[in-house]
Amino acid sequence: MNAGLSHTPFKSEKSCPSVFWASGQDPYKNTRKVLTNINLSPSKNKRVLLKPNIGRNVEPKTGVTTHPQVVAAAIDAFLEAGAEVAVGESPITGVAMLEAFEKSGITDITKTRNCRLIDMDISPYVPVEIPDGVAIKSLKVCREVTEYDIIVSIPVMKTHMHTGVTLSVKNMKGCLWRRSKVDLHMLPEIPGQDERSLDIAIADMSSVIRPHLTIIDGTIGMEGLGPSAGKPKALNVVLAGVDAFATDSIACELMGFSAVGIPHLKIGTKRGYGVIDPDKIKVLPENWKDIRSPFDLPPDKLSIEFPGFVILDQQSCSACQSTLLMFLKRYGKQLRDSVPDDKDIIIAIGKGHKELPKGTLCIGNCTIKHKGRGKFVPGCPPVASEILNEYFSS
Ligand code: SF4
Repeated sequence: MNAGLSHTPFKSEKSCPSVFWASGQDPYKNTRKVLTNINLSPSKNKRVLLKPNIGRNVEPKTGVTTHPQVVAAAIDAFLEAGAEVAVGESPITGVAMLEAFEKSGITDITKTRNCRLIDMDISPYVPVEIPDGVAIKSLKVCREVTEYDIIVSIPVMKTHMHTGVTLSVKNMKGCLWRRSKVDLHMLPEIPGQDERSLDIAIADMSSVIRPHLTIIDGTIGMEGLGPSAGKPKALNVVLAGVDAFATDSIACELMGFSAVGIPHLKIGTKRGYGVIDPDKIKVLPENWKDIRSPFDLPPDKLSIEFPGFVILDQQSCSACQSTLLMFLKRYGKQLRDSVPDDKDIIIAIGKGHKELPKGTLCIGNCTIKHKGRGKFVPGCPPVASEILNEYFSS
């Protein structure tokens, strides 16, 4: 396994890591500028894998996927340093990788640079043991992540309904092969642990697949109902750092959060995987707090965002959650208009429900054992139009 902060070839002060930032209207220039602070020469003659967040099939500038010009700048910087560069991703369940690369603008920028583009779900996975794992003891990791010399995590700055934020550490979940990503959402509670299994599992994952370098795209991020149904938020900043936890921590601060409140970052730092205390991170230029712009938090309960709906979410993965949010945004009013004002519409996603109220609309294969309680929409995930058809079927 090549990944792991202790093996990073880039210079970093472990107890007081540096994070660099640049802001302005041009994401390409911002990225090139931050990368001038990091000596990339150790990547000469090495194979570098850039891992943006292209997990969904959406247009650029929606705040859902990494801006293509940030990726373009990273490719150019590493090519100039003498590296062989590729861009790879493994998307969420139900998304076709090459279509997502095309729509996100990534295909175009790699073509013009003669840079390899990799659907990392195609090759067979490599099993990776997690000796210090608490929630998980092994992972199915995409082959390229184990074969390339240097892994660069390039997330887009977003809030996340399940994990608080999704930044560099969490972005590495897209290095897990095909549907094995979903497994992290389906873990049972661990007796004696205060934190949720998903957060512990992400920290476990970061013990073996921490990136060697992080570039965070805050050009257009996402606030509120992230990672896919929130509002785009333009911050026009790019951050870079060798310590993924430290870079995530400063991104959190810019978003108006403290990394201590993000469970997977808190657990990881306690285990010594990186630094999240802003007082122990050197941020350059020093006036970074001037560009802070608080992001709306993800709501605790989806029902708050959609009055008249009771949404029961137990151990769902991001794919079903995205489908449901898209469905409610598109068809929520139509559903509400079909029932009296004083009647709630109950919807369930995820595998962890012990019981569900009678009349629940059960969405996704994970809810199949409750299908007798109301209506059931199969699929993993189903698409929004299928949910609508099932809801109005007699
Ligand atoms: S049914 Fe939904 S929650 Fe379950 S694994 Fe599939 S997409 Fe995820």
